[in-house]
Amino acid sequence: MLGLMQQWPLLCHKILDNAAIQHGKREIVSRSCEGPIVRTNYVELRQRSLKVAQRLERDGFKLGDRIATLAWNTGRHLEAWYGIMGIGAIYHTLNPRLFPEQIVWIMNHAEDQAIFVDLTFMPLVEKIAGAVPSLKKVIVLTDKAHMPATSLPNAVAYEEWLAEADGDFEWASVDENTAAGMCYTSGTTGEPKGVLYSHRSNVLHAMIAAMPDAMGISSRDVVLPVVPMFHANAWGLGQSAPMIGAKLVMPGGKMDGASIYELLDTEQVSFTAAVPTVWLMLLQYLQETGKKLPYLKKVVIGGSACPRAITQKFQDNYDVQVIHAWGMTEMSPLGTLGTLKPEYAGLTGDARLNVQQTQGFAPFGVEMKVTDDNDNTHPWDGKTFGRLKVRGPAVANAYYGGAGAEQFDADGWFDTGDVAHIDPNGYMQITDRAKDVIKSGGEWISTIELENLAVGHPDVAEAAAIGIRHSKWDERPLLVVVKKPGKEPSRDDILGFMSGKIAKWWMPDDVAFVAEIPHTATGKIQKSALRAQFRDYRLPTD
Ligand code: ADP
Repeated sequence: MLGLMQQWPLLCHKILDNAAIQHGKREIVSRSCEGPIVRTNYVELRQRSLKVAQRLERDGFKLGDRIATLAWNTGRHLEAWYGIMGIGAIYHTLNPRLFPEQIVWIMNHAEDQAIFVDLTFMPLVEKIAGAVPSLKKVIVLTDKAHMPATSLPNAVAYEEWLAEADGDFEWASVDENTAAGMCYTSGTTGEPKGVLYSHRSNVLHAMIAAMPDAMGISSRDVVLPVVPMFHANAWGLGQSAPMIGAKLVMPGGKMDGASIYELLDTEQVSFTAAVPTVWLMLLQYLQETGKKLPYLKKVVIGGSACPRAITQKFQDNYDVQVIHAWGMTEMSPLGTLGTLKPEYAGLTGDARLNVQQTQGFAPFGVEMKVTDDNDNTHPWDGKTFGRLKVRGPAVANAYYGGAGAEQFDADGWFDTGDVAHIDPNGYMQITDRAKDVIKSGGEWISTIELENLAVGHPDVAEAAAIGIRHSKWDERPLLVVVKKPGKEPSRDDILGFMSGKIAKWWMPDDVAFVAEIPHTATGKIQKSALRAQFRDYRLPTD
């Protein structure tokens, strides 16, 4: 027997409709690419999104078209997203930090039909547009006065283009499983792979993300997504914030400590989210200037492991709650968040920080398990680590075009490629990427644990552990270290500091000092490049 309840398809534009009705005057504040701070609200944002949709349709774009965006977090970028989805087309965020050849590869794979681009990235688009035959139109996110002279034949200034529409338009009525958005993984191994979100998965993810023990945001919050919309959908905040009617503050292209502080302060931001590097810059700025954070209540930190010192400084020095989060593009992207269950809520000091070093627990809508290489499930004992697998309504069930099929199994589990353990209370901790873990004599050594320990040394700026071929043990760890400016730690200093804090057989066999450690476009240590660099390295123990 079927239930007698209404069919109310979960469509992204309903988020914006509701925001305009219930929270219409709430502001969206953007640092524009032209410079000034620009203010709009949910009523206006919805109206302009309708114009984007109307205008796109008039230009001949249609259901299922992939429309790229190459832009910072601004109100205009958000309007473009909702306008694109509003005709049943698919917003495709491009990461400007990738190499131009990678962007060309991705755009051709997706067959992007048009692109919305910020002024900052015009030189990049001018360089690559000729190599993307499917591209019919370039919409420059600016007004006529700021429109640059360009060699592109099909470029228009966004405001001029938009002014030709009146917004008298109806959102496309599509099935909730229709594709809405697209984002490619950065392809640190092999070619980038396309993840295709649906309206339904976006709406459900927004609801999951907003829940109290996840991000826990409400209409009383002022939300600053520093994490870019081109990096895993700004962790869903472009949908969660309008869904619950929070004021949004969009940082544009400026993410240095002073610029972020200015927005936190003048807009009285209560909630923000970004990768650890952004917070290192902010904390340094605060330390240098002696400024405080009177309005900020919560910061979500993820994308790579959050160093303990960042969590400690935010909480102890500035009274800001840190939520360590883990996720990936394939998960829309949230997977786990480190809010405290009653079992841990009473903890203080180091015991609390220990829990916050884990990546937290999965909210409703994310199932997790950890298995060995033969898919046998490990116990949740907080120490047995293995392959982390997930499933849920906002988790990919395939990549666009069918690449990477081996990561999806018949029961719907997606192999994340991460290695982790889960404790009896459900708190998951990433110990490595499956391709980075060091396999020594048949046992696994966590490179992340070695790195976290090494960066605790006062003279170490950054550290990366990689496996080096060893005739007896297969692989043994080499620790690659960048020294802090003006400091000269020795190999023995660092090994002495680590000794006794980890199992003896986990200790690195050697330390190599380098000027710089290579990073990916999303700020992660590029282990593949590092392994190539040290391919011929001979360990003193071999
Ligand atoms: P990209 O490689 O483009 O950055 P993602 O943003 O999807 O792609 O990266 C997801 C990966 O980032 C995860 O599989 C995991 O390895 C890593 N990651 C994300 N958050 C954390 C975290 N809090 N701690 C450790 N690793 C993390």
